[in-house]
Amino acid sequence: MSRSPLSPVHVVGGGLAGSETAWQLARAGVPVVLHEMRPVRPTEAHVTAGLAELVCSNSFRSDDAETNAVGLLHEELRRLSSLVMRAADAHRVPAGSALAVDRVGFSDAVQTTLEAEPLIEIRREEIAGLPPADWDSVILATGPLTSPALASALRALTGEDSLAFFDAIAPIVSVDSIDRRAVFAASRYGRGGDQVEMLRHGFPAVRISEGAENYDRQHQDLRTENGVEYGDTIEGVDFNYLGQVARLNIVAMAALGNAPASPLGVTIEGAVKPDTTVKWQAVPGAAGYRVWWRSTTAPQWTHSRWAGDATEITLPGVVIDDFFFGVSSVSDDGYESPVVFPGPSGSFVSVGDPAAPAS
Ligand SMILES: Cc1cc2nc3c(=O)[nH]c(=O)nc-3n(C[C@H](O)[C@H](O)[C@H](O)COP(=O)(O)OP(=O)(O)OC[C@H]3O[C@@H](n4cnc5c(N)ncnc54)[C@H](O)[C@@H]3O)c2cc1C
Repeated sequence: MSRSPLSPVHVVGGGLAGSETAWQLARAGVPVVLHEMRPVRPTEAHVTAGLAELVCSNSFRSDDAETNAVGLLHEELRRLSSLVMRAADAHRVPAGSALAVDRVGFSDAVQTTLEAEPLIEIRREEIAGLPPADWDSVILATGPLTSPALASALRALTGEDSLAFFDAIAPIVSVDSIDRRAVFAASRYGRGGDQVEMLRHGFPAVRISEGAENYDRQHQDLRTENGVEYGDTIEGVDFNYLGQVARLNIVAMAALGNAPASPLGVTIEGAVKPDTTVKWQAVPGAAGYRVWWRSTTAPQWTHSRWAGDATEITLPGVVIDDFFFGVSSVSDDGYESPVVFPGPSGSFVSVGDPAAPAS
């Protein structure tokens, strides 16, 4: 860091907020020490060591400054010489009127700029408690994944039980984070499951089961027998748990409700060719489409390509025999429909699958 008569501002967290803060302070001539714990200590969601790594969606939502509040904020940030906006504009990918970026290029651009700024020193370390008393000025920008040590110090300082953040869109759920023991892809033994009807009607669905069921409470008529009370009564309801489930459902419904319908009529072609061509029909409300593919042994989508508002894309060197393919619709605001496989829209089961509807 170059010498300055001012004592540095310590910015903790080199995410989106911390990176922009460090940049704006340096532009104002204020020295900054930016403390970022990755890669020394990872988070549950970040996957790189890069500053300003976008977690989850690579969309900054609408970039329409005329009719959308988010787009207006983008424009205000640009006028304030925002580094985040400059990097986003430089690494923009087609997404209709939404601002979507190549997240790796975006993060690299932010990091390279901050590393080159003489007034900024970047330290890769966790601040594992309240900041030292000899730091004059501190800005905490540790985001929703604040490390547990700092979070518990903040809880103790503020007397709050928990700290929360508002997420405007449903996050990606990584398959790795799901306990496979508790997930039944088709059904519980001999009892079916709510998701089977969804599958029968052509929509992807899994059942996530509570593994410690109380069989006195569940699947019982209300009665008392040999001193045991059976049945699902109000005293047995865990309202805290129920509230969490309701929140999850609402966030999922809001995300689906804001998303356009899935593309129609998805087809794939490419037998005996080195490339695969994916085609689909446009749906109302979609600003563009994302084509996904994954190896036939992979549990989740591993590759995707933004197709803009086209209804066809050829994937060079992607051999049709080796992958599953799907297409999703994306709205102006970056909301994404469920990915659909080739076949009738929503088709999830193939002919001959045990979960397929009886003809
Ligand atoms: C799973 C998930 C999905 C999300 N999906 C979306 C989405 O789709 N759209 C959306 O708008 N927002 C989403 N968010 C919210 C998203 O995190 C914010 O939009 C944005 O990243 C917040 O920026 P930030 O700078 O506050 O935090 P971050 O970008 O997370 O940056 C905080 C940084 O602080 C570092 N840090 C944490 N604790 C310490 C410590 N003690 N010492 C040093 N460094 C520390 C972290 O490593 C991180 O780099 C999601 C969040 C999560 C967790």
